[in-house]
Amino acid sequence: MEKDIKFFTNGKRIDGRAIDELRNIKIEVGVFKRADGSSYIEWGGNKIYCAVYGPREAYPRFLQKSDRAILKCRYNMASFAVEERKRPGPSRRGVEIGKVTQGALEPALLLENFPKCMVEVNIEVIQADAGTRCAGITAASVALANAGIPMKELVPACAAGKVDDKIVLDLCKEEDNYGQADLPLALLPRRNEFSLLQMDGDLSEEQLEEALDLGRKGCLEVYEIQKEALKKKYVKEDVSNE
Ligand code: UDP
Repeated sequence: MEKDIKFFTNGKRIDGRAIDELRNIKIEVGVFKRADGSSYIEWGGNKIYCAVYGPREAYPRFLQKSDRAILKCRYNMASFAVEERKRPGPSRRGVEIGKVTQGALEPALLLENFPKCMVEVNIEVIQADAGTRCAGITAASVALANAGIPMKELVPACAAGKVDDKIVLDLCKEEDNYGQADLPLALLPRRNEFSLLQMDGDLSEEQLEEALDLGRKGCLEVYEIQKEALKKKYVKEDVSNE
């Protein structure tokens, strides 16, 4: 819902960014010893851990698919992650985000290599500041690579949106809560296809096109950061093994 907020001052946004600028993003790969793959992402004020387990035998067994592995994605936000304490435990919002995360990641994975198995992705939001589903998908994709799950490509994600009738990239909290539209996107960069496209709010057809273009550009920037994070991890390990 739009609130009486001054979204722009001298062409800059509430947090000083240009309309097509991402917040600062830092990704660390391999942060947990007991997970098969893991990552930590800081994206603006978001702080999110991701742990991947598998591929291992799918349990309960009735979930097994004879021709491929299943992908389970769990999204959880800590009670203290938000301004107003969140009720602990599962929520409808969490279930929805787990489901769309699975849909965003699945087309990038070679799940057919592991019949009857499952790959589990756990996303834990420790601090939330808008855009956690995109940050979670971005981190999960890197953690899946760290787990050695065969993949066709990484999946970067990023939101576009509309505030004050302007299309902007990567909404901050005020823009997300009080802006006119929010469009979380995940991209399969090599195929140039979106694997996540949600929309909250109103956009005209032209605005939607503009938001998709800007969102694609944002995802490609996130993609570079994902690749850098993986390179940093493996180049460093190669050096220390010498
Ligand atoms: N949020 C909150 N309490 C909640 C859920 C969300 O304060 O119970 C905040 C949180 O900062 C979140 C933002 O609202 O990042 C936007 O939430 P949304 O459901 O749009 O998902 P997100 O943008 O995080 O993917």
